[in-house]
Amino acid sequence: MRGVVLHAPGEIRVEDLPDPAVLEPGDAVLRLEATCVCGSDLWRYRGEDPFSTPQHMGHEYVGVVEEIGSSVHSLTPGDRVVGSFFASDNSCEICAAGYQSSCVHRQLMSGAQAQRLRVPLADGTLVVVGGTPDDAQLRGLLAASDVFGTGWFGARAAAVSPGKTVVVVGDGAVGLLGVLSARLQGAERIIAMSRHASRQQLALEFGATDIVAERGDEGIERVRDLTHGLGAHCVIEAVGTNEAMRQAFTLTRPGGHLGFVGVSHGVSFEGRELFMSHVHLHGGPAPVRDYLPELITRIMANEINPGRVFDLDLPLDGAAEAYRAMDERTAIKVMLRP
Ligand SMILES: [Zn+2]
Repeated sequence: MRGVVLHAPGEIRVEDLPDPAVLEPGDAVLRLEATCVCGSDLWRYRGEDPFSTPQHMGHEYVGVVEEIGSSVHSLTPGDRVVGSFFASDNSCEICAAGYQSSCVHRQLMSGAQAQRLRVPLADGTLVVVGGTPDDAQLRGLLAASDVFGTGWFGARAAAVSPGKTVVVVGDGAVGLLGVLSARLQGAERIIAMSRHASRQQLALEFGATDIVAERGDEGIERVRDLTHGLGAHCVIEAVGTNEAMRQAFTLTRPGGHLGFVGVSHGVSFEGRELFMSHVHLHGGPAPVRDYLPELITRIMANEINPGRVFDLDLPLDGAAEAYRAMDERTAIKVMLRP
C-alpha cells in the first residue's frame, strides 16, 4: 500500500509500505476512504518535536472494515467506521467517565495517512456510520475523527452553556470547529480571534457573533471592551503556544472556564498567578470517542457541515504539497484521498 512517511523535518515522502494485518484478536484492518494532515503533525514537520526514526504519519480516518480479529464482535467487514487518535477499550473506569483518550489501555494511533490502517481495540475505538455518506458528509465524518471532536471537547472543557460569552483563540480547523461546537452547545455570544479573511468568514458561518482581528495586547483590549471589562465566561484555546495560552488565560474572567486543546509547547505558568486567577482550567487530548456517536448522527442528518474546514483536496500522493499548504497556512485543512 501507499503511505506517508516523514523522514526528517520538512521531508515528506509517499512510499510503498507493507499492508497492515490483524496482529491481535481485537484488531481491525480498514481500507481508508479519507484521511488528512493535522495541525499537530506540523510540530514534527517543523522540527519542533524531535524524532529519530522515520514517522508513518496520520491519525484521522474514515474507512471500511476489511478484516477483523477473532475477538471483535461489534464490527463486520464492510462496515464504514470512524475512529480517532487514541485507540481505547471504551469499557474501563476512565472510559466510562468519558475520558477515552486516557483509557488505561489506550494506544496512540499513527499511520492513517495511507491506504490501509490497523486499528487495535477495534470494538472500543471504532464507531459505525449508518448509511452511505455523500461527499460533504464524508468530509464531516473526517472532521469528527479529530478536529471537530477536539473543538467539541474545547467547548465542553470551557463549560459552554446557554447564555454564555465564549472567546475562541486560534483560527485553525480546531478553533473554527470550537466556534461551531460553542454554538451547538448554546453559547449566546461567540468572539472568534482571527486575522485571516477566509477564516473569519468560516467562523461567521459556524456561528461567531464577533470577530477580533487584533493580536496581543490590542486583541485583549478589544475582547475586554466586548465583555464589559470582565473577560469571557468561557475561553477555548486551540493553538498550544505560550502566547496563545497566556492570551486565553488573560481573557477568562474570574470564575470562568478555560478549555485548552492546542497541544502545549513551552507553556508555563507561575503557581501564584493561577492561584489568584479563579480560572477553571481543563483540557488535554480530546476524548473524541465519547462524542463520535452524537457528531456522526448530526452530520449524517445534514444538521451541520463541519467538513467545510477542508479547503484543499489532494490525492495521497500529494502529501508533500498538503504539508506545505498547512505549514504555510495557505490551506485551513487538507483532505487526502487514498
Ligand atoms: Zn478504557
